[in-house]
Amino acid sequence: MGAPPDRRIWIDGELVPWEQATVHVLSHGLQRGSLIFDYLSLHETPRGPAAYRLDEHVERFQASARLVGLPLAQDAAAIRAAVLEAARANPGASSVKISAYLASVEVDVVPLDDHVTLAVAAYDPVADMIRPKGHEPRPFAPLAVWVEKERRNRRPDILPPQAKCAANYASPMAAKWEARRQGYDEVLLVDAEGNLAEGPTTNVFLVDGNGGLRTPPEETVLHGVTRRSILEIAAHDGIAAAVEPIAPKEIFEAAEAFLTGTTAGVWAIASVDGKPFATPAPGPVSRALGKRFREISEGRDPAFAHWLTPVNAD
Ligand code: PMP
Repeated sequence: MGAPPDRRIWIDGELVPWEQATVHVLSHGLQRGSLIFDYLSLHETPRGPAAYRLDEHVERFQASARLVGLPLAQDAAAIRAAVLEAARANPGASSVKISAYLASVEVDVVPLDDHVTLAVAAYDPVADMIRPKGHEPRPFAPLAVWVEKERRNRRPDILPPQAKCAANYASPMAAKWEARRQGYDEVLLVDAEGNLAEGPTTNVFLVDGNGGLRTPPEETVLHGVTRRSILEIAAHDGIAAAVEPIAPKEIFEAAEAFLTGTTAGVWAIASVDGKPFATPAPGPVSRALGKRFREISEGRDPAFAHWLTPVNAD
């Protein structure tokens, strides 16, 4: 599949054709894994296309830059404006990836040319991404997950899990590859203490027998905007939710479990380490929250309209 014909990527203020949005193989972002990014969704809403929780995504992007030490030239308002401009330039896009990287090809870990490029791509993750033949996108069928058995370097004194930095995805990649080799769809990572942390690109929730939610604490996971949304929806709807350490064995005692993320929304887990939940997934709570989350992100609940930023000025 070639490049999408009309997609343009916002790079340092210019709209660059998709196939020209390249960096050198020896660039710092690639060789040192120093690129930081954030990823948010666009939705068709009754008020037209809108960005989901734009402020929160931009704040998290700035936090990633701070954690990695990348000197971003743009402030929050400029980044938000770039997202909306990229969205307007790419009609039909449903995802936005904001990236910041050192394009310099110097060897030093701190290059003399410290210009940080800001790039914003708005696209359709299914139609526009290159996918090997025979690997059609799967519907969000309940997942067979495997709990990581080895503790990797998810420690706050290295690069904390709160940084959306390219390098931070190497150890989840190794863990997910291991899960794939064993025939599972997805891996659940453990933290430095061996407690449940998150998926490689999702957060995790357990549902207890009374319909209450549990999710691991902020210190050990990426601050997922969907995770935060689910916790805020739970508070609004009177659903009990505990944010606390969870031992891996506790997932086997849960009534349901699900993953959350920008792409996945609420994604039910069917089985853990080959053991299915007693109630076939998606269970009633995962199903109801998934529907509630979709309604809100599509602008169909006025109580949460402030979570959506229209792409076109009113
Ligand atoms: N954890 C990690 C490590 C992630 O990369 C993501 C995806 N951004 C998430 C959780 C889910 O975050 P969000 O709900 O903001 O997409």
